[in-house]
Amino acid sequence: MEHTDNEPLQFGKGNNPSNIMPVKLTLDSKINFRCYPGVSCFTACCGNIKIILTPYDILQLSRRLNIKPHEFVSQYAEPDFLEQTDMPGVRIKMRADDNRCPFVTPDGCTVYTDRPTACRYYPIGMADFHEGGRKEDGKEVLGGYDKFYFKVVEEHCKGHFEDKEWTIAEWRADQGVDVRDEMNKEWLRLIMRRKSHGHQASLSEQAQRMFFMASTDLPSFRRFIFESSFLDTYEVEPELVEKIRADDIELMKFSFLYLAATLFGAQGLRIKEEKVQAKVAEIKQRQDESVLEAIREYEEMKRERPE
Ligand code: SF4
Ligand code: SF4
Repeated sequence: MEHTDNEPLQFGKGNNPSNIMPVKLTLDSKINFRCYPGVSCFTACCGNIKIILTPYDILQLSRRLNIKPHEFVSQYAEPDFLEQTDMPGVRIKMRADDNRCPFVTPDGCTVYTDRPTACRYYPIGMADFHEGGRKEDGKEVLGGYDKFYFKVVEEHCKGHFEDKEWTIAEWRADQGVDVRDEMNKEWLRLIMRRKSHGHQASLSEQAQRMFFMASTDLPSFRRFIFESSFLDTYEVEPELVEKIRADDIELMKFSFLYLAATLFGAQGLRIKEEKVQAKVAEIKQRQDESVLEAIREYEEMKRERPE
């Protein structure tokens, strides 16, 4: 199987440093690894690093720190574009004095049980071609699917020399990655979609703003839904309306649905029929007015230049 020029989405702290297509591993592949406070490099990987935060990461970390998501973002994050696309996101802002993560201490991570997805992945990155084009037997397969894992081996990380053996699946389960994958998958899919449509026109500023707000500030996204004409415009089941009113996770999942529909025209969120009809009538009226205007101009021209 040969891949097209589409770059896979490679998610995880450290990523693939060499930029060379890594050795593909599966969930059954075995690795030797152990990370624990006694390892000589303990916390060496928590500095000088880019850690992209997913919406779920932001939600969990702001809850952990008992602050609002936008406060968390302004205090602990800085803007970054996601996966070389024009989709705006955030990464953890390293401390100015030592370029280390604001949550690391000599005793380890102070937010360990709520640490971001990328920290849980390390040292196993994930590459995903979902939604990207690829070639199979010389034929282009659109919307193809090819996910694999790869080892991130960095010199400072001594965990690779430990005896403990895991399959990738065991390691990921131990790190709680499975739950994160479930929470992040539709958001990552948006980025993959954007990556695979990279040659098309860039996102409008309004679309970028909406993506950023929904990804980093769920309370503002909730206000947008409940304090604008949103619910008059879109068909949303009353039961779902109540869920997204009360539950942040439901709201987050709904934001992915909304973004997929508005950014990529995905199915899943319908505009109310009466709104569609009103829009059609408005377009028709504009067209009728243009036709009438053209007829008026033509008549005027004829009057000015009689044959
Ligand atoms: S969040 Fe925790 S695990 Fe992740 S880089 Fe910071 S200190 Fe390390
Ligand atoms: S560098 Fe590797 S072994 Fe050392 S603390 Fe980080 S993940 Fe664990």
